[in-house]
Amino acid sequence: MSTICAVSTPNAVGGISVIRMSGEDAVKIAAKIFQPFGGKAVEKMAGHTCVYGKIVSENEIIDDGLLTVFLAPKSYTGENTAEISCHGGLLVTQKVLEACISAGAEPALAGEFTKRAFLNGKLSLSQAEAVADLISASGSEMLKSANSMREGSLYRSVKKTTDSLVALLGDLAAWVDYPEEDIPEVDPKAMLSTLDTAQKSLKKVLSDYSAGRIFREGIETAVVGKPNVGKSTFMNMLLGYQRSIVTDIAGTTRDIVEESVRLGDVVLKVSDTAGIRQTDDVVESMGVELAKRCIERAELIIAVFDGSREFSDDDLELCTEVSSAKESGAKCIAVVNKTDLERKFELLPQFQQVFDSVVEISAVNPEERDKITKAVFDIFKLSNTGSDARIFVNERQKLCIENAVKCLDEAVSCVLSGVTLDGVTVLIDRAAQSLMELSGEKVSDSVVNEVFSRFCVGK
Ligand code: GDP
Repeated sequence: MSTICAVSTPNAVGGISVIRMSGEDAVKIAAKIFQPFGGKAVEKMAGHTCVYGKIVSENEIIDDGLLTVFLAPKSYTGENTAEISCHGGLLVTQKVLEACISAGAEPALAGEFTKRAFLNGKLSLSQAEAVADLISASGSEMLKSANSMREGSLYRSVKKTTDSLVALLGDLAAWVDYPEEDIPEVDPKAMLSTLDTAQKSLKKVLSDYSAGRIFREGIETAVVGKPNVGKSTFMNMLLGYQRSIVTDIAGTTRDIVEESVRLGDVVLKVSDTAGIRQTDDVVESMGVELAKRCIERAELIIAVFDGSREFSDDDLELCTEVSSAKESGAKCIAVVNKTDLERKFELLPQFQQVFDSVVEISAVNPEERDKITKAVFDIFKLSNTGSDARIFVNERQKLCIENAVKCLDEAVSCVLSGVTLDGVTVLIDRAAQSLMELSGEKVSDSVVNEVFSRFCVGK
């Protein structure tokens, strides 16, 4: 395989830059452009050692820096690797890279280093994807889960299930293919128990997927309520600073204000909308329409009510709106505001179960924010998720697991309805294939290429 090179540090001015080469000739090429100060020969360097020297190209000194050598197979890619650390200017970095190329290395494609690590058995496909996610991780939670994936937690958990299915397939194949060999028939009860354990473990990964997705992407949230109930005050409380204009004239918040609110480790992507109520004012009606659309696409609806006023027709309309959004899967919180005033508001009994939680607050008190955080964490089951439960599963991996679960479901009903064992075997085999596709143990080139195309060059 050719020797590839790329700048592995971000494309920006920094203290140092690292130019990485990987491939059979990496050390040989490094020797052409790097001259250690002590006169030591680069090609004689042992793996995992480093020298200080000058970087030269066509007899011109580009910079001085460090050369670190890793020898196959003990490197990230599993190949010979040379890393040159130079000063971080863009021009210097570019010159060192060009020097590597003119000395015989080829520019690396996006993700090619990690792809080689995968092809050389250094990483599983899911670990490789975790590296991509690690590079692009923004939140600390995502970083945590990307790290845990890189250490192979998804891989380990799925591998155990795959191994149990493969063992079962072995028993089935032996019995089906060698009937003359007096091999005992696979006991349906034992088979069902293996399938059941496999399903449970895979379903657990799928449920962790939804928590992982929330930590990664945040929750699309709509804050709604009739005018003057305190939505803007509530938003300001969530944000911790004055953002929306708070007035006591009904219908002031006419535009939708979109904000990111961080509650603990979770980000709410909040659309704060104009009050929903019947109105003749054209601009305000547009706001009302927008509010309705926000409700439709929200995963979380926070309906704010004024605790100091009686339940009105506007509240009725809002509750009805929220009920229909609930049917399409949104979670809903009722915030009964202004608890510092005399309480007149009572939610009608028929709407009690529309809301996953009813939180009473006074939005003018910033400490009440914790009540909202708690409600969100409870509703989305985010509390007590250890770092292991925050296994990060991406869309491709999720599809593999879903497919495996589907095949196992069918396999179970086949066993229960007495279908012949070779029919059941086909389904279990499909489930196992799907799981192997997840870890990359059996995977078509197109999937491998798809995965690595997400990387930036230099990784
Ligand atoms: P919006 O129209 O729903 O956005 O409501 P605003 O946030 O503009 O609030 C309307 C009025 O209610 C303002 O005068 C706020 O100061 C007041 N208000 C909001 N929250 C509270 C609260 O918790 N207690 C009291 N006493 N007044 C509040």
